[in-house]
Amino acid sequence: MKVGVLALQGAFVAHATCLRSLGADPVEVRTPDELAGVDALVLPGGESTTMSMLLESAALFDPVAERVAEGMPTLGTCAGMILLGREILDGRPDQRGLAAVDISVRRNAFGRQVDSFEADLLLRDLPGGPFRAIFIRAPFVERVGAGVEVLATVDGHPVLCRQGRVTVAAFHPELSDDLRFHDHFLKGI
Ligand code: GLN
Repeated sequence: MKVGVLALQGAFVAHATCLRSLGADPVEVRTPDELAGVDALVLPGGESTTMSMLLESAALFDPVAERVAEGMPTLGTCAGMILLGREILDGRPDQRGLAAVDISVRRNAFGRQVDSFEADLLLRDLPGGPFRAIFIRAPFVERVGAGVEVLATVDGHPVLCRQGRVTVAAFHPELSDDLRFHDHFLKGI
């Protein structure tokens, strides 16, 4: 079982480090061939406008969209959540999303970099106490379609959702010392 981390831009090294700490051997994905060799994919945080352009220029946009639509286990965090949503609010006019989860996601919804914050989330799938979630220029979900489960909210706004094999988080589990989030993703693959 090979787990890939999309490594075009953003916090991919931190995700790979978490996965490695849990005994996985993550593959950095930058080409369609590398994508073809993985069974699951993490889309990291970073800058979703840049990442969507790089997905196009690396000829990865359509292959990633197809693999995710076919049911590849996928985790998107922050910018990764934005990219995996059906509708991007406050995106660049030409910004494309992968439309894997039927949600409308607003970029920078909690404010700018200075409005970054941490929150304790009680997550049903992660027994053992609250998960400390780090939000950096984070999005939140404004519309949730049928078939999407909301797993956590902050101030009433969905920040963790799942549809089929795709999980999207507005926060950065890869930046905390708590490996339970990645452990749960690996166990679900
Ligand atoms: N605001 C960023 C974007 O629009 C996401 C921030 C992040 O991934 N930490 O892509």
